[in-house]
Order: sequence, then C-alpha cells, then structure tokens
Amino acid sequence: MTPTYSGSGFLLDLSLRFFSQPYVALDIGHGRDTWENGGGKGVVVDGKVYEEHDANAETALMVKEILEAHGVRVWLPQEPWERDRDLLSRTNEANRRGVDLYWSFHYNAGIPDAQGACAFYWYTAGDAKKLAKRFGEYCRGAGVDTHGDGTHAGVPGTWTELHVNRETSMTAILTENGFMTNHEDFENIFGSNKKQYRKMMARINAKCILSFFGISYQGDTSDDPEVIKISNDFENKELVIHDKYASEGLAIYGEPVNLDNESQKVAHYIRNESNGFKTIYGKYDVDGYEMYKVANSAGTVRWVTAHNEYSYVKEKTKNVGLEEDEYMPKNVFIVNEFIDGAAIKKAMIRNSGNMVYRFTAEREDIKAEENIYVCGGGIDGLNLKKGKVVDLSGSSAEGTAKNIYKEFGY
Ligand SMILES: [Zn+2]
Repeated sequence: MTPTYSGSGFLLDLSLRFFSQPYVALDIGHGRDTWENGGGKGVVVDGKVYEEHDANAETALMVKEILEAHGVRVWLPQEPWERDRDLLSRTNEANRRGVDLYWSFHYNAGIPDAQGACAFYWYTAGDAKKLAKRFGEYCRGAGVDTHGDGTHAGVPGTWTELHVNRETSMTAILTENGFMTNHEDFENIFGSNKKQYRKMMARINAKCILSFFGISYQGDTSDDPEVIKISNDFENKELVIHDKYASEGLAIYGEPVNLDNESQKVAHYIRNESNGFKTIYGKYDVDGYEMYKVANSAGTVRWVTAHNEYSYVKEKTKNVGLEEDEYMPKNVFIVNEFIDGAAIKKAMIRNSGNMVYRFTAEREDIKAEENIYVCGGGIDGLNLKKGKVVDLSGSSAEGTAKNIYKEFGY
C-alpha cells in the first residue's frame, strides 16, 4: 500500500504512523564467529560444520520481511553474519530503545532423543507465557513437534534462566526452532528439507509476533503458487460441499494454495463456514491442483478444493417465495467450538439441519424454514432472522450436550 500525502497533512500523518507502529527486536542468536571462538553453537555431521547462527539469521530475516509487510517496525540487535555481540549490550539497547517486544531466534542442542520446537519466557511474565503457549499451538497446528508442551518458564538458578528473558524490560520470548542434535530435526534444519522447514518456522514465529500486536497474518508472497484459470462457465451454478465434509469442516482457504505446501495451507486455512457457495468465479489450476474460486454469503473470496470427493457443482436451486439468491435450510444448528460434536451430528442427520459456527452466526444473518437450535453460548450476539429459536445452551459443554440429547430424545 502506498499512502498518499498532501499539503501540511504529510508531517502529521507520518508522525502518527511512526508512533503508533508496533516495534519489535528480532534477536538473531549468536554470530558469525561464535563457532570459531569455541562457543560450540552448531553441530558437526560427517565432518561438516553446521553453524546455528546461519539458521538463526536466515529464519529471523524471513520473519523481518513478513513483519515489515504487515506494518511492524523491526530492529536487529545482532546483524546477520556479523561478529557475535554480547548479550548485555543487546538487551541494554533494546531497553533503551523501548521496543514493544523482544524475540530471540535459536536452534537447540541436547541429547539425540530430544526433539521439537519450544519457546522460553520469564517465569513471572504472564503475557510472555501466553505467547509461548501460542507458539507451541501454532507449531503443532503446522505439524511441527514441540519439545514437551512447547513452553519453558525461565526460572532463576536453573538451566532455563536465559539472559534475554531476564534482562529485558518488555515482553520477551526466545524460540528454539528444533534440535540440531536430533537426526530428524537436523534434516529439517540443515538437510534436504531446510528451505521449506525454515520458512515454515519463520511463518510460525511471525504469526505469533503479529498476534501479540493484534494483527492477523495476511500471508507472504515469497512462494505464491501459479494460478491459471481453466474454466469460467458457472453461470447459474452453485458449489455444494458434500455433507460429510460440510459437517466435519472441510478446509476452505482465503487464498489459492499449493495443496502439497503445509505452510501455505496453514497460513491461509479458514474453517468451513458454509455448506455451499452461491457464487463461483471459476475453476483454476493451482500449482497442478484444481480449485474453485468462490464467494461466501458475505461476498468474501474463498478457495475450495475442486475434487468430486469434497464438492460438486449444480444448477442453482430456486426457493419459492424467497429472493432468488436466498438459501434457507430447514433447520440450523449453531455450534460452539467445544461442544459435543457427536450429539449434534446425530440430531442434524435426524432433523435435516445445517451446521453453522457461532462466529459465523455473529456476523451473518441466520434463517431457517423451521428451527434454529443454539447449541452452546446462548442467543446473545447472534443474528437470528427467521425461524423458531430453540436455545439448548447449558452452563457447560456437558450441559449443552445433555440438553441436545433431551430435546431430540436419545
Ligand atoms: Zn542458540
């Protein structure tokens, strides 16, 4: 985005932007001379030296690129492939600059069995603990193993007491993005998978940092797939998601993704929000896979796998007495994330219903020919426009499940 400035607004605009911009220190672990100086930060495999600093630098620079594209200001306490700067001068300068977040990049070493990524936080820092937990969740979500649950509290007087967590006056996280000393992790960090793995770790770190500032990750353009339109003959047609995948939550994507590329899939994944799409823009070849480009009921573009197993195209149905484009299921089940899925699935099958996630019902109008069953969370905040509202929410997930069983008699 190129902002346009005019007249005296220029300076004002610029200064406001400067002061409101999130500011983060991306700390690249160690330096180009760490290994030579006996720091031992790295591994030797088959007589070849693999230095941790190389992996730290490359990962951090990818994160820098993503953050800057999202409007975050970045400062590097340690320049990549420069002499190792001592830790105290790194953290002192971060404190003096008043960065909002300090984020340090490392790759771990230990016994050969130790494996996985994790994040360290200072034991008294609640916000950092939350972020560390999220890092672990993002790792597992992307299929990356975590070391333990993915978090380590830095406790004084133990091996977990890390300088950058202790000496920084702002929220600080140190991530270990896998074990160089584990065979499988080594293949990812330095071996044949290194390009994809380091990029995936960069995305996970970047997503986590952005979440701290309340910015949602919009993806990055470094390896966008090739997208070729192969058909646009979809007038008066709609895309239907097969029942099985509609209730289980087929992955819908916000952007075209290469279906072999886990990190792209993670970056653009959107939970299934609909059983179908009334607008199909076309069918595309995306890096060799076919996808439909569609619009949801709010007009937002989505991408869906074009495979007969998941979805199919049919003539638009016309409901009597409704606007041509208005689709109204017989019953609607509004579900929370944590609810008893089995109970709802059973009820839905028996009562021909459509499932809608609560977050969708908070944004879009919900209409049913007969009943709207609210399964958890109550009716407050929902846009319930047509249908008899039956609130089955209990005070807990178990309570809701009980109400569902009671209502449908099984
Ligand atoms: Zn390190």
